[in-house]
Amino acid sequence: MHELSLVEAIARRIEADVAERGLQRVQRVRLAVGPLSGVLPHALDFAWRVRAEQPGPLARAQLCLEPTPVRARCLECGAQRTWEGGARLDFDQARAPDLDLDHCPRCGGGPLELVAGQELLILGYEAI
Ligand SMILES: [Zn+2]
Repeated sequence: MHELSLVEAIARRIEADVAERGLQRVQRVRLAVGPLSGVLPHALDFAWRVRAEQPGPLARAQLCLEPTPVRARCLECGAQRTWEGGARLDFDQARAPDLDLDHCPRCGGGPLELVAGQELLILGYEAI
């Protein structure tokens, strides 16, 4: 389960930042999660809850996952396309048959390159 190591890496980065700013306790952490990031939201959530049981500035901190849209750009004509349902974390490529990166709906060319939807980013955190 690579979510455990992801959570550990995220937690360490925030703890380092918290220490640098002289803050005490983190209340809430916001992550941007792309539906195509390969991260399983429930596994990430579970790993976070386990991590937040440890003493330290992240003890009992809440995790908020914010889904990002799936967006691609045509390499031929530059048209951008955003997929319906691409902002849901249970977005599944198999259930999105229109996620076609080979054919541009505008010029018929292609391929399209993903410009959003694969990210896992720390958006910010609230601490006291
Ligand atoms: Zn095009």
